Amino acid sequence: MSPTQGTPEKSNPVAPDGLAAHLPVVIAADANEVMREQLDYLIEHAQGGPCGCPQCLRYQRARSVLLEVFG
Ligand SMILES: [Zn+2]
Repeated sequence: MSPTQGTPEKSNPVAPDGLAAHLPVVIAADANEVMREQLDYLIEHAQGGPCGCPQCLRYQRARSVLLEVFG
Protein backbone atom coordinates (compact mmCIF):
# COMPACT_ATOMS: atom_id res chain seq x y z
CA MET A 1 0.00 0.00 0.00
CA SER A 2 1.40 3.36 -0.99
CA PRO A 3 1.11 6.22 1.52
CA THR A 4 0.62 8.61 -1.39
CA GLN A 5 -2.58 6.89 -2.39
CA GLY A 6 -5.36 9.40 -1.82
CA THR A 7 -8.99 8.98 -1.04
CA PRO A 8 -11.46 8.75 -3.93
CA GLU A 9 -12.72 12.22 -2.99
CA LYS A 10 -9.43 13.72 -4.13
CA SER A 11 -10.22 12.93 -7.73
CA ASN A 12 -13.54 14.72 -7.55
CA PRO A 13 -13.52 17.18 -10.48
CA VAL A 14 -16.11 19.50 -8.96
CA ALA A 15 -14.62 22.94 -8.47
CA PRO A 16 -14.53 24.26 -4.88
CA ASP A 17 -16.09 27.58 -5.84
CA GLY A 18 -19.38 25.99 -6.84
CA LEU A 19 -18.87 26.47 -10.57
CA ALA A 20 -19.94 22.89 -11.14
CA ALA A 21 -22.65 22.91 -8.50
CA HIS A 22 -25.30 22.27 -11.11
CA LEU A 23 -23.64 19.03 -12.14
CA PRO A 24 -24.78 15.71 -10.74
CA VAL A 25 -23.02 14.76 -7.52
CA VAL A 26 -21.68 11.61 -9.08
CA ILE A 27 -19.96 12.04 -12.40
CA ALA A 28 -19.81 8.70 -14.14
CA ALA A 29 -16.90 7.56 -16.26
CA ASP A 30 -19.22 7.90 -19.23
CA ALA A 31 -19.59 11.59 -18.48
CA ASN A 32 -15.81 11.95 -18.47
CA GLU A 33 -15.69 10.41 -21.92
CA VAL A 34 -18.35 12.83 -23.11
CA MET A 35 -16.38 15.75 -21.66
CA ARG A 36 -13.25 14.61 -23.49
CA GLU A 37 -15.12 14.36 -26.74
CA GLN A 38 -16.75 17.74 -26.23
CA LEU A 39 -13.41 19.34 -25.42
CA ASP A 40 -11.80 17.72 -28.43
CA TYR A 41 -14.60 19.01 -30.59
CA LEU A 42 -14.48 22.53 -29.17
CA ILE A 43 -10.68 22.74 -29.36
CA GLU A 44 -10.69 21.55 -32.93
CA HIS A 45 -13.36 24.10 -33.81
CA ALA A 46 -11.58 26.98 -32.07
CA GLN A 47 -8.26 26.22 -33.74
CA GLY A 48 -9.44 27.96 -36.88
CA GLY A 49 -9.86 31.17 -34.92
CA PRO A 50 -12.93 32.46 -33.08
CA CYS A 51 -15.91 32.97 -35.37
CA GLY A 52 -18.32 34.02 -32.61
CA CYS A 53 -20.64 31.05 -32.88
CA PRO A 54 -22.08 29.18 -29.82
CA GLN A 55 -19.27 26.60 -30.08
CA CYS A 56 -16.67 29.35 -29.79
CA LEU A 57 -18.41 30.76 -26.73
CA ARG A 58 -18.55 27.32 -25.14
CA TYR A 59 -14.86 26.85 -25.88
CA GLN A 60 -14.00 30.15 -24.22
CA ARG A 61 -16.11 29.32 -21.16
CA ALA A 62 -14.63 25.83 -20.81
CA ARG A 63 -11.15 27.20 -21.34
CA SER A 64 -11.45 29.85 -18.65
CA VAL A 65 -12.87 27.31 -16.18
CA LEU A 66 -10.15 24.75 -16.86
CA LEU A 67 -7.28 27.24 -16.85
CA GLU A 68 -8.57 28.76 -13.62
CA VAL A 69 -6.85 25.90 -11.81
CA PHE A 70 -3.47 27.21 -12.96
CA GLY A 71 -4.20 30.88 -12.39
ZN1 LIG B 1 -17.13 29.17 -33.92
